Amino acid sequence: MMAAQGFRVAIDGPSGAGKSTIAKILANELGIDYIDTGAMYRAIALKMLENGIDIDADPAVLGEMLAHTDVDFAQGKTLLDGVDVSDRIRTAAVTDMASKSSALPQVREKLVVLQRAMGEKKAVIMDGRDIGTNVFPSAEVKFFMTASPEERASRRWAEMKEKDPTVSFEAVLAAIEERDYNDSHRALNPLTKADDAIEIDTDGLDIESVTAILRARIESA
Ligand code: C5P
Repeated sequence: MMAAQGFRVAIDGPSGAGKSTIAKILANELGIDYIDTGAMYRAIALKMLENGIDIDADPAVLGEMLAHTDVDFAQGKTLLDGVDVSDRIRTAAVTDMASKSSALPQVREKLVVLQRAMGEKKAVIMDGRDIGTNVFPSAEVKFFMTASPEERASRRWAEMKEKDPTVSFEAVLAAIEERDYNDSHRALNPLTKADDAIEIDTDGLDIESVTAILRARIESA
């Protein structure tokens, strides 16, 4: 059975592979905490945008901002300096900024410290891009979830169309491809599969099937 403390499940993969949907369900079923590291990069991006700090800003200015920044979670909400920003981090502007600002070493160093502290005290399931390779290289179970860009874009498009019927599939696919490029080309902790991660290609699989595959692997760990 799973140890209550320090049991870490890492789920990495590109944007739109379904990591957060699956991680939330599993965390709920297993009774452990879910940590969405993408939300943390988004919260920093939001604060940079609100403070007019661009990605090529003076590192001293960014450092000063980061020294006075706290990102945390409570009851499924993302807190930036104690304020719930769960909705505000989901805009297109923040998505775009997070994809770029997450390449900044100062931003990554700050968040990795917070992420490691979150996984030290409790059992956690953490999703992101560098969890199995960098945040928790010794995680008890590691997954690398993928799907083709077309499949990921069509899932995202289906969600987005409900809010904005004018959004085109081509635009959503182009945005996914740009984020993939940024994730796999940054110098520090790019998106890569850890050697010991279990790769799950979710093309053509529904949420229930993917959840069942991961759950079986976690329970046997
Ligand atoms: O997963 P999500 O799309 O919310 O992540 C927002 C951005 O944060 C992504 O574009 C990705 O580049 C970045 N990210 C990261 N490392 C992580 C999690 C997210 O660089 N561990």
